[in-house]
Amino acid sequence: MPDTTTLPAKADAQKTEHFDVLIVGAGISGVGGAYHLAKQCPGTSFVVLETQESFGGTWLTHRYPGIRSDSDLYTFGYRFKPWTSAPIATAAEILAYMGEVIDENDLGQHIRYRHRIASARWSSRDNLWTIDAVRTDTGETRRFTAGFLWMCQGYYRHSEGYTPEWQGMETFKGRIVHPQSWPKDLDYAGKQVLVIGSGATAATVVPAIANDCGHVTLLQRSPTYFIPARNANDLADTLRQLQIDESWIHEIVRRKILHDQAVFTRRSFEEPEAVRKELLGGVRAYLGPDYDIDTHFTPSYRPWRQRIAYVPDGDLFRGIRAGKASVVTDEIDRFVETGILLKSGKTLEADIIVTATGFNLSVNGDIDFAVDGKPLDLSETVTYRGMMFTGVPNMVWVFGYFRASWTLRADLVADFVCRLLRHMKDKGAKKVEVALRPEDKDMPLLPWIDPENFNPGYLMRGMHLLPKRGGKPEWQHTQDYWSEKDQFPLIDLDDGVFVYG
Ligand SMILES: Cc1cc2nc3c(=O)[nH]c(=O)nc-3n(C[C@H](O)[C@H](O)[C@H](O)COP(=O)(O)OP(=O)(O)OC[C@H]3O[C@@H](n4cnc5c(N)ncnc54)[C@H](O)[C@@H]3O)c2cc1C
Repeated sequence: MPDTTTLPAKADAQKTEHFDVLIVGAGISGVGGAYHLAKQCPGTSFVVLETQESFGGTWLTHRYPGIRSDSDLYTFGYRFKPWTSAPIATAAEILAYMGEVIDENDLGQHIRYRHRIASARWSSRDNLWTIDAVRTDTGETRRFTAGFLWMCQGYYRHSEGYTPEWQGMETFKGRIVHPQSWPKDLDYAGKQVLVIGSGATAATVVPAIANDCGHVTLLQRSPTYFIPARNANDLADTLRQLQIDESWIHEIVRRKILHDQAVFTRRSFEEPEAVRKELLGGVRAYLGPDYDIDTHFTPSYRPWRQRIAYVPDGDLFRGIRAGKASVVTDEIDRFVETGILLKSGKTLEADIIVTATGFNLSVNGDIDFAVDGKPLDLSETVTYRGMMFTGVPNMVWVFGYFRASWTLRADLVADFVCRLLRHMKDKGAKKVEVALRPEDKDMPLLPWIDPENFNPGYLMRGMHLLPKRGGKPEWQHTQDYWSEKDQFPLIDLDDGVFVYG
């Protein structure tokens, strides 16, 4: 396969293809976008361009053992397609679900795989985006024009995960693996495995390999909150016993889960100590009275400042209890030939080290953007509700929720895009952009997200790349599904924020 990254992004001689809308990415957001566009804006021509060889995004990229969702699929699934299995799903189940959405709605004809978009240039003279995509199989550049760009590129770089630079890494004699690029040939049977990290990925990999490897140690700098819970939904099971239609079950169970989550989120702000005790009590129930929960599972931050991962059926904790897995809370001093030397002076021996250390934030799919010949720096823009940006015409960006399922927002944004496109058609407008109104001019401009509210590492590392947020809700990505679900359908598309041309 040619190295497409080094090829010039100039369009070759072949003709340019035009579409009304171009969707970037065939993950859960892009496939959802295609569904909504086909349903809500019939007659609109569109194409989905996707770097990878198939759909799925996150669920295709990640192939580490045990890969699964950490939120329930009743809400991570689309609003329009019932989820009919256990709430926490494997990547394979999510891909099968997305495949059904594509097949049932004949969306495959719109998706072009192995097309990595390298650049997108807006021209106000033509009211068009010109998009150059490099074919990852042949290295050819394909040129497209589109009236509207729907960014469903996700939030991290798919080609490579984030691994910090630790001293002595090159001296380690074993293998270092990032879960985002898990090698197919990795043989961990009987081996000593060390997993660095404390998030959902580490909590998934550890139980998934615990039975096969010699021993697996989870090494974390600081603990995380987890919710160990049965991978079942009692309400869904009861409704199924009553032979209720699956589309009803989907809607009812979604509402119940969202209601419970709203209560939980509110409580974690209003009574963090009580919530904290409940969460720790859940872990204690699995690990027993003698386990050192204070050191290994008691975070210093209040609940919900980082995403809380489900541990279905407590599998991580059962592995620890059975002695197949253990947790070390310490800091890495450096890598050594045989493993890792900790700041405490102890050495952890390992044959394989898994760096479950997170993502590289990729704000715009690593696409070179320009608006009327000027390179676009998104960090200089102000976001309108986390989906449009000042000075960037005819573009909407999908960034989901951190505390609720991503897809809830992908569906809401899709409704908004379709409404905006229909509105533009009715007005005969070819261009729309958001602009600060006179009353917004003195509004304070702040970082994308308040670190006091939510502060995972990939966001903190990449905050300087993200657009600014303003001091009013409409100029923020509020992360609040419960208000957005009511507000989005009521957004007044003629209220002065939207400037048409
Ligand atoms: C392991 C893991 C588990 C997660 N679990 C959950 C969960 O349980 N619940 C939850 O709400 N969220 C979860 N998330 C967050 C998750 O990423 C989102 O929920 C969701 O899958 C994102 O979907 P997306 O389609 O927006 O983006 P992605 O899944 O990131 O897909 C984006 C697609 O765009 C393509 N793309 C990017 N740039 C370009 C380009 N320049 N040209 C062409 N194509 C491009 C990529 O190849 C990719 O296929 C998880 C994330 C990870 C990594």
